[in-house]
Amino acid sequence: MRQSSFFIRTKKEEIKGEPSLNAQLLLRGGFVNKEMAGVYSYLPMGLKVLKKIENIIREEMRTKLGAQEVLMPALHPLENYKATGRSEMDVLFHTDLNGGGKLVLGQSHEEIVVPLLKKFISSYRDLPLGVFQIQTKFRNELRAKSGILRGREFLMKDLYSFHEDEECLAEYYERSKEAYHSIFNRLGIGDRTYLTFASGGTFSDYSHEFQTITESGEDDVYLCKECNVGINEEIIEENPCCPSCEKNKNELRKERAIEVGNIFPLNTRFSDPFSLTYKSKNGEERPVFMGCYGIGVSRAMGAVVEILSDEKGIVWPKEISPFSVHIISLEKNEEAEKIYQKLIDAGMEVLLDDRDSSPGEKFAESDLMGIPVRIVVSEKTLRSDSVEFKKRTEKEAELIKIEEIVSYVEQNI
Ligand code: ATP
Ligand code: MG
Repeated sequence: MRQSSFFIRTKKEEIKGEPSLNAQLLLRGGFVNKEMAGVYSYLPMGLKVLKKIENIIREEMRTKLGAQEVLMPALHPLENYKATGRSEMDVLFHTDLNGGGKLVLGQSHEEIVVPLLKKFISSYRDLPLGVFQIQTKFRNELRAKSGILRGREFLMKDLYSFHEDEECLAEYYERSKEAYHSIFNRLGIGDRTYLTFASGGTFSDYSHEFQTITESGEDDVYLCKECNVGINEEIIEENPCCPSCEKNKNELRKERAIEVGNIFPLNTRFSDPFSLTYKSKNGEERPVFMGCYGIGVSRAMGAVVEILSDEKGIVWPKEISPFSVHIISLEKNEEAEKIYQKLIDAGMEVLLDDRDSSPGEKFAESDLMGIPVRIVVSEKTLRSDSVEFKKRTEKEAELIKIEEIVSYVEQNI
C-alpha cells in the first residue's frame, strides 16, 4: 500500500485528556478513532491488526479444540435473561421493539447459544461440541477510561462447549488452556500472560483468567514464579497461597494485570434454565454440561500496545503487524518502487512511504506505526547500490545490497 493514498493522518503531539497509553498511541498512529468514551472506530491499519488477531484465535480454536465458528445476533430477547436470572445485570443495554417487546444488546451469549444448540443436541452422539464466534459485545461499563482495554462496545471471542458429563468437560477445559497459551504467545504477550486462579462466582468452585502483567491493568494478581501461575486478588483471601505449590501468599509477587481472557466450567448453570438435555447411551435423559471460554480480542490488541511499545511508539509483533515492511523513499526514486514491487511479489505486506514530507517526519511516523522492518531508500544509499535495513526493535541500521534485499528481509523478519 502507498502512504500517499492513505486517508488517515498521524499525530505528532500527545493527545490532551487521554490518560491511557494504548489510546494515545493507537489514536496518534491513526489505527483507531474515538467516537465517545469506550466506543472506537477501527481505521484501515487498526482493522488489519484486529483481523490478524482474530485469525490467530480462529486457527487455534479450530485446530486445538475442533470448534466450529458461528455468528450470533447482537439483539437478544430480555425474556431469555429472565429465564437465567440475569435480567438485572447492571451492564445490560436495554431497548424496545416498536410493536412492543423488550430487548437487550448482547453482553455475552449464553442466553442465545443454549436455546440455539437445544435445536441440535439430542443424543450423546451429538457431544462433545464446541462452537465459537468473534463478535461485538455491548456493556454499559461504569468506567471506560482505559482506551480499548475497556470498551462499552468491544470485540470478543466467545466459545461454548457442550459435554456429557463433568469429566468430558474437564478434559476439554484443560485443552483450552493450551490453546489460550499458544494464542497469547503468537500475540507476543505470552511471556507476561499467566494462567490465574479465580473464584467461580455462581457457576462453579473455580474458574481461570489469563492475566497479562501491565501497569495499566485493572486487577491485582499474585504470581508464583516457580509454578508460572497467578491467583486473583479476590480469592487470595480465601486461599492465601499458590494453588500449585502452596507457597505462602507473602512469598508471591503482587502485580498489576489486565484480564485478556477467561475460562469457566459452567456445568449445568445455563443448560438447566433452558432444559438442554441429551439421551445417554442407556437411554436416560441427562443435563448437558457446559464450559465457556472468552478472549477480549480488542482488549488483547490494547494489551499488546501497552506492553510492547517504547518511547517512540508501537512495536507490533510480526504476526499481527498491519504490514511486515515499511519502505521509506527519501527522494522520489524509481528504485524504491522497484523494491516495493519485488517484496510484494515475494508475498509480503508492504507499506511504501512515497510522500513528500521530510526525512525526520517520515522516520518519526514510521516508529509510531511500529512496523517490524524499515527499509530506507535514498540517493546516498543508492550510490553503493544499497538500502538501509532496520528492525523496529533495533537502534542501528545496516546497509544491504539491493539485489539481496528480498532474501535478506525473508531471513531476518
Ligand atoms: P472484566 O473483569 O475485565 O470486566 P469480565 O469478567 O467481565 O472482565 P467476561 O465477561 O468473562 O469478562 O468477558 C470475556 C473477556 O472479554 C474478558 O476476559 C476480557 O478480556 C474481555 N472483556 C470483558 N469486558 C470488556 C470490556 N468492557 N472491554 C473490552 N474487553 C472486555
Ligand atoms: Mg466485566
